[in-house]
Amino acid sequence: MAHVNENYLKLPGNYLFATIAKKVDEFSKANPDANIIRLGIGDVTRPLAPAIIDAMHKAVDEMGKTETFRGYGPEQGYDFLRNAIIKGDYETRGIELDTDEVFVGDGAKTDVACIQEIFGSDLKFAVADPVYPVYLDSNVMTGHTGSWNVEKGIYDGVVYLPCTAENGFKALPPTEKVDIVYLCNPSNPTGTAMTTAELESWVQAAKENKFIIIYDSAYETYITEPNVPHSIFEIPGAKEIAVELRSYSKCAGFTGTRCSYVIVPKACTGYKADGTPVELNPMWNRRQCTFFNGTPYIIQRAAEAYYSPEGQKQCLADVNYYMENAHIIRNGLTKAGFTVYGATNSPYAWVQTPHGMKSWDFFDLLLEKAHVVTTPGTGFGPHGEGYLRLTAFGSKENTIKAIQRIADLKLFK
Ligand code: PLP
Repeated sequence: MAHVNENYLKLPGNYLFATIAKKVDEFSKANPDANIIRLGIGDVTRPLAPAIIDAMHKAVDEMGKTETFRGYGPEQGYDFLRNAIIKGDYETRGIELDTDEVFVGDGAKTDVACIQEIFGSDLKFAVADPVYPVYLDSNVMTGHTGSWNVEKGIYDGVVYLPCTAENGFKALPPTEKVDIVYLCNPSNPTGTAMTTAELESWVQAAKENKFIIIYDSAYETYITEPNVPHSIFEIPGAKEIAVELRSYSKCAGFTGTRCSYVIVPKACTGYKADGTPVELNPMWNRRQCTFFNGTPYIIQRAAEAYYSPEGQKQCLADVNYYMENAHIIRNGLTKAGFTVYGATNSPYAWVQTPHGMKSWDFFDLLLEKAHVVTTPGTGFGPHGEGYLRLTAFGSKENTIKAIQRIADLKLFK
């Protein structure tokens, strides 16, 4: 009799985006003429940059010739990409890394969901609330949490760090003992970003209390303010306590192409039960070598092209396009009377619902009256109640139209 991993059964059945899709589907069936605009799901819409497409074409041709064909690549990624990452994303900011501290992956979702496997079964972790759901769900599935507490809408045994308007939606270091903390900076879903000074206090807390920071900077390219760090390794000493993840999904439109990387500094250690320090780098290397056979060669060449001068220019133009949408959302809704956070260092706007409405009620109202799809804040954690997340990844034309429709509802008049 095959016993299943019962931890999976702790996950509540109604997945956020599936619930949204069902509601939108029902609405559009009942209202076939409604022109629905989606400002909900965080997928990009701009095509891959020409420099990236050229690199992919070239790599495809190489795969078609015996002399240049590539089979299994290194599990950690090809050195051409690992070195381009170090040069393009780190050396430019004064951060030195060794090639073998970089692990190329096939998406930050995979990387961030799997990293918890190298920690002990008694792992105690903290997450921001609201938060990108993968941090939490992956730990639930491994058995690092208690049961789902229906009343509170949280998992027992997890340390939630409330992100509220009062603290600028920036989590503060936990007061109780934890082993790891997931930090997303700039944050999905709130779109807010910690400053260098704020991150410094996190690094200090991690050193003092011996926890490791899993730092997800999937939205790093959207940072516009000079006091927001692009990497946790800009903070002195962070290599001892942090692992950093990045994705090409939002900086280069790779949501359907799939490439990412993890930096596991050799200086970063966990501990054995007897307190002996253990380097995480060889552990993650071992994990990847056993579970993963590398990101496809064609895709790694595509990611390498992101760092070419043309690739940088073209991808930045797309990021700027999305950021213009973010400003349209932020300015348009603020003018209409809403309180809006984020959308300055991030493609996400975190919008307070009017007159204390519940997130799902306001989601329904916008769908029915403005034909605009958003994401209810409660889908990201209990402290998301009273907020909606709007994304800037649509077309400029649709973004303007959607914001105008919401403004026309005159909810504050
Ligand atoms: N991390 C955060 C915070 C995200 O918002 C996302 C995607 O939405 C990911 C990771 C996953 O990125 P990828 O497409 O590389 O799997």
